[in-house]
Amino acid sequence: MKSKYILGIESTAHTFGIGIVTDKGKVLANIRDTLKVETGGFLPRDAAEHHYNIANEMLQNALKTANIDISHIGLVSFSQGPGIGQCLHAGASFAKYISLTLKKPLIGVNHCLAHIEIGKLTTKLKDPLSIFVSGANTQIIAYKNGYYRVYGETQDMGLGNALDQFGRELGIPFPAGPVLDKLYFEGNKYIELPYTVKGMDLSFAGILTSAKMQIGKHRKEDLIYSFLHTSYAMLLEVVERALYYSKKKEVMVVGGVAASKSLRTMLESLGKQRKVKLGFVPLEYAGDNGAMIAWQGYLQYTKGHERQTLKQTKTNPNQRLDSIKITYLK
Ligand code: AMP
Ligand code: MG
Repeated sequence: MKSKYILGIESTAHTFGIGIVTDKGKVLANIRDTLKVETGGFLPRDAAEHHYNIANEMLQNALKTANIDISHIGLVSFSQGPGIGQCLHAGASFAKYISLTLKKPLIGVNHCLAHIEIGKLTTKLKDPLSIFVSGANTQIIAYKNGYYRVYGETQDMGLGNALDQFGRELGIPFPAGPVLDKLYFEGNKYIELPYTVKGMDLSFAGILTSAKMQIGKHRKEDLIYSFLHTSYAMLLEVVERALYYSKKKEVMVVGGVAASKSLRTMLESLGKQRKVKLGFVPLEYAGDNGAMIAWQGYLQYTKGHERQTLKQTKTNPNQRLDSIKITYLK
């Protein structure tokens, strides 16, 4: 790759993102747009349609922000999976079109790996135990012998989705996470809710159902406090054991829920007790974004010398990060 500019395209769910980064890890542009929904969830085809419609306009904006011409791009990177099939396709076909017309290499990357690597780049942690908490995902991950290993994960829904669904029931519009996070600090009574840790894995379906059924029976703030406190305690129990198994000395939080102040408060006390260094991905890179995809593409292509044929760039809605051989870490 002669050019130092990498283009990253993110489209795993309802957010479409375009990022431009340099080979030194400097982010020149990172713009995104999320499909807006009035009530309930979103339909995959509506999100894909949103991505197709907005893609070119966003690319032009990103190039303008980065102050470069499209011909300066040296590598095109996109989210290959995991994600929603139709959404992934929208980003992948746009990336393929750009790569073919510019005659520049194309690389499909794992979305979850990208969350972790942008976290490491921005928090400057070297080899952390990662808590990856987003809408769809909840995993505790650490690197070992050529692979990122999943030490524990949710068996049903991601924590962010559980928060959003609970919020929806309380009449809080999507995404409810940030609002619940504020109201947490107004709660002062703990209401007992199901605490489900199975081995190293988690489940949020039970606590969600129970919390929903108790709406109206308690002060809203107390119920929110109890819901967040219980689910974060479950998460931290697994983190604590994963720290023991993995022997890592750093803990990093990535994904949209990394913005949570209440999670941070609880984690800080664990950090003190266990004497581990903590890092939280900055807000701009916490949710889905194109810059992290660009950076992941750079790592795999330039540091890891990976090359993909067009066939190998096929999208994969169920791609797991622990199935991917890591080529770019020593
Ligand atoms: P992502 O899937 O990575 O884009 O993250 C989006 C998820 O993060 C949504 O479920 C949001 O509700 C959640 N989220 C965002 N900010 C916060 C916050 N301050 N506290 C808790 N959850 C949050
Ligand atoms: Mg994500």
